[in-house]
Amino acid sequence: MAIKLFDSLKREIRELSPSHPDGVFRFYNCGPTVYAPAHIGNFRTFVINDVLRRLLELELGPDRVKHVRNLTDVDDRTIGQSKKEGHPLGQITKKWTDKFHEDCAALNCLRPHVEPTATGHIPEQVNMIEVLMQKGNAYRAPDGSVYFKIASFPDYGALSRIKERELKVTNSAFDADHKDDVGDFALWKAYKPEDDGEVQWPGPQGASAGRPGWHIECSAMIKKHLGETIDLHTGGVDLLFPHHENEIAQSQCCNGTTFARHWYHSEHLLVDGTTMSKSKGNYYTLGDLVAKGYSPMAVRYALLMGHPRKQLNFTLDSLHAAESALASLRAFRATLPATGGDPGVFAAEFEALNNDLNTPAALGALFTVVNTKGLVVHAAAFDRVMFALGLDLNAVAAKTAAPAAITALADQRWAAKKAKDFTAADALRKELTAAGWSMLDRKDGYSLEPLKK
Ligand code: AMP
Ligand code: ZN
Repeated sequence: MAIKLFDSLKREIRELSPSHPDGVFRFYNCGPTVYAPAHIGNFRTFVINDVLRRLLELELGPDRVKHVRNLTDVDDRTIGQSKKEGHPLGQITKKWTDKFHEDCAALNCLRPHVEPTATGHIPEQVNMIEVLMQKGNAYRAPDGSVYFKIASFPDYGALSRIKERELKVTNSAFDADHKDDVGDFALWKAYKPEDDGEVQWPGPQGASAGRPGWHIECSAMIKKHLGETIDLHTGGVDLLFPHHENEIAQSQCCNGTTFARHWYHSEHLLVDGTTMSKSKGNYYTLGDLVAKGYSPMAVRYALLMGHPRKQLNFTLDSLHAAESALASLRAFRATLPATGGDPGVFAAEFEALNNDLNTPAALGALFTVVNTKGLVVHAAAFDRVMFALGLDLNAVAAKTAAPAAITALADQRWAAKKAKDFTAADALRKELTAAGWSMLDRKDGYSLEPLKK
């Protein structure tokens, strides 16, 4: 079954396919900026991309997917943090890179095959900038910085349709002082001691020493690790403009060929109706939620409960629901025979995932199977769905896993309580107690715990 995904450039759902003769699918996902802990909004994007990677592996085979995700370890924010803390840039970025890896592992995200850093690819970036200058797509500003000239690339704006909107000044006043056109963006930033502290490298020929602009890092790392044309490029929706628009301009002008054959942008995680962001300070980290007693697997599950192309409002209630869903899945898995059963039972789950990554529909279909009495389910087929969603049921606390019959009783009691049929609710609670389970009611749902013997 082919994987179909919305393409943000062509604005339609299209099939993914490898284009290189070696059959290896080239997949690039813009990674984190490592100056602070990634919040669970960031992880919504990374978990969605992890499901994509898993689907590609199931479809093409694990050796036929090359997944690259960068680490942005030099930019205004990382340098700002290093100055604020009074520690070298490399020390700050290492600390947050390690934390990011730890959180990714807890969320059961597969490691990308290559995880290049911006500071590890300065010569590649300088080289690309020099080519762009030679070709007339870039120019040196009076202060020794280098800018990309958007007027030199007629397709500029195709991804974001920025020309159809008002082209706004999105860059800093520092940039605006030196460039020819308000839309031009920095490829190389000349060193400024007051801003950059110790951070500088020799620049492209004809430019000053300094540091790369943000966008060029992805173009250079993609070219080095995946080649001039890739099969899929992804990121959160905020990256569509200017970051990805600029990546297209740089790469296509430098290489003279199509940069990415397919673009995918997932929507943001909101908290109280606004985007969760580090700069707004309205965020939860994985550590915050673990400290409240939630499991990382419940966080992963909750992040998959909304359609990736729709905004998702994060609530602690959704984590309660995720915890009890995982407990049911774990209990269900324990009932499956090692052999036998119908491997075709989970067709609807894969159909949902392979059709524009509809994770909530896949979870819905999964629970239809779990709740259907009399189905004979193949354990390996169930495990394949768990692999695709990246749900590691061994990481779910055993104490919360109630057998399906107990969950069914609890569901009935919850429904009775909601219908204000307290006599029935009390009778069902007695049944649960007699079976050795205690049901704890919460505002949004319940959890089950075995009674101590
Ligand atoms: P950053 O570390 O800021 O470079 O962001 C890393 C990734 O997280 C990018 O793909 C962003 O688009 C994405 N991102 C940032 N904020 C959110 C959010 N609230 N919800 C989902 N993804 C986000
Ligand atoms: Zn990028």
